[in-house]
Amino acid sequence: MNNRVHQGHFARKRFGQNFLNDSYIIDSIVSAIHPQKHEALIEIGPGLGALTEPVAERLDALTVIELDRDLAARLQTHPFLGPKLTIYQQDAMTFNFAELAAERGQPLRVFGNLPYNISTPLMFHLFSYTDAIKDMHFMLQKEVVNRLVAGPGSKAYGRLTVMAQYYCNVIPVLEVPPESFTPAPKVDSAVVRLVPHTSDQRPSVSDVRVLSRITTEAFGKRRKTLRNSLGHLFSAEVLAEMGIDATLRAENISVAQYCQLANWLSTHPEQPQES
Ligand code: SAM
Repeated sequence: MNNRVHQGHFARKRFGQNFLNDSYIIDSIVSAIHPQKHEALIEIGPGLGALTEPVAERLDALTVIELDRDLAARLQTHPFLGPKLTIYQQDAMTFNFAELAAERGQPLRVFGNLPYNISTPLMFHLFSYTDAIKDMHFMLQKEVVNRLVAGPGSKAYGRLTVMAQYYCNVIPVLEVPPESFTPAPKVDSAVVRLVPHTSDQRPSVSDVRVLSRITTEAFGKRRKTLRNSLGHLFSAEVLAEMGIDATLRAENISVAQYCQLANWLSTHPEQPQES
């Protein structure tokens, strides 16, 4: 049997299609999401409905975003799901989550077994809507979950870690082996829960674009010392004033310290010189 065919659908590689086939894993994910009848749940990439069906069973209405036209059409005519679903046949990368939350009158609960080829940019897109989101549950490559939950000093700690932990509390939920999917991906997978910090819990950053820029520059040269990677933005003296050793590398700086750097740079945009 062709292992790219699942329930009569030929899995499309370009859409990152790996369909869940393991009922134990599916049940565990749905229990972790714990959907409640009147909540505003939205699924990214429902595919053939492996998560959609058990989640929709517990709800009056469910919104889904599916890029594949054939799969969206199939869901539209699904015998019991069809009437409950609002289907957006579009790219989740262009979806306005704030508009949907405003329409539903409550923050969204987002979930999905994400297409791995776009999972990191998609999470960055979602981070820009965290004020409209209550929580997110995602299946990702295990390596990406390791990066999301990493602490300073580890190899997995990077730009994704800092930005994710700035926006969210990150909790690993479950590891999932390749055989739980058809076709089986080449990598291990894991489910993660991301709970956006409320604005009073979030570290205070006056301009998140500055935080984004600093992390891009620091981790773009992650093997160099801060003196080398960020020297054009912060002198060694300024770093020392903030209690940050210029001979450390990007991976040794905590999320709180990156926020401190961003706030300093926001108030001294033209000042710093190479030391
Ligand atoms: N939820 C199903 C499951 O667990 O079996 C399918 C998961 S599969 C890994 C990813 C799904 O996302 C596919 O249905 C794919 O067509 C859809 N998809 C891919 N790129 C997308 C995008 N940019 N926006 C929305 N959906 C997308």
